[in-house]
Amino acid sequence: MEKAHLRKELKKLFKSMDFVSKKFLADEKAAGKDFQIYFNIYQQLGLAWEFLGLQCGHWDGYKKIKAGKEACKTCGKIKGVAESYCLLPKTGEKIIGRKSQPDSDKTFENKKEAAILHDTINFHGALLKVDVHNSYKSSMVGHEINIAAERIVELKESGITCSVDQHLIHVTVDRKKGKIKYGGFPWEIQSKHLKKFPVIFDYDDDYNFLGLSIFKGAKGKS
Ligand SMILES: [Zn+2]
Repeated sequence: MEKAHLRKELKKLFKSMDFVSKKFLADEKAAGKDFQIYFNIYQQLGLAWEFLGLQCGHWDGYKKIKAGKEACKTCGKIKGVAESYCLLPKTGEKIIGRKSQPDSDKTFENKKEAAILHDTINFHGALLKVDVHNSYKSSMVGHEINIAAERIVELKESGITCSVDQHLIHVTVDRKKGKIKYGGFPWEIQSKHLKKFPVIFDYDDDYNFLGLSIFKGAKGKS
């Protein structure tokens, strides 16, 4: 929305909010059905304010209000208060948040204190999770261990999970419950077993690893 248009819309909205508040909500003795309806209207206008405010770039800066706080001169939002909604364009790239990394060398007392970000989005049926935290102490089966600072990104699609952190890219496919999981480098596995894995490695002339493809649902040669 254009700056001037947004300013106008906000002004009109504030006028309506003041009107409802002064005319129908100011009387402390007022009660009953009508009061509840006007109260709801005020709340809904508040919601409209929240959404209009998301489009505000706070271009004209902030003014001081009570309790040492600052409010945007245009939309009236308080500086530094987290917003509860996101505004995303229907077309084009959608951006939510910024890339965050662990930001401390300290080992925190617990997971909660070490947390920087833990967010999930279900995007057209694909589940994306971002977990960023500093190092923290964790007690597992009796002893205390230090969990390393990490940024972990996990994508889930059609029963397949791909997670990426600083050290590892891990893909989980078709995990059957109750089966013991083994792991090994290709050269540690006998070629007759290796043939069962539907995996193709990408590499260059010097045999530098470039990536891999996994055939879904396919079985290798047996
Ligand atoms: Zn603003």
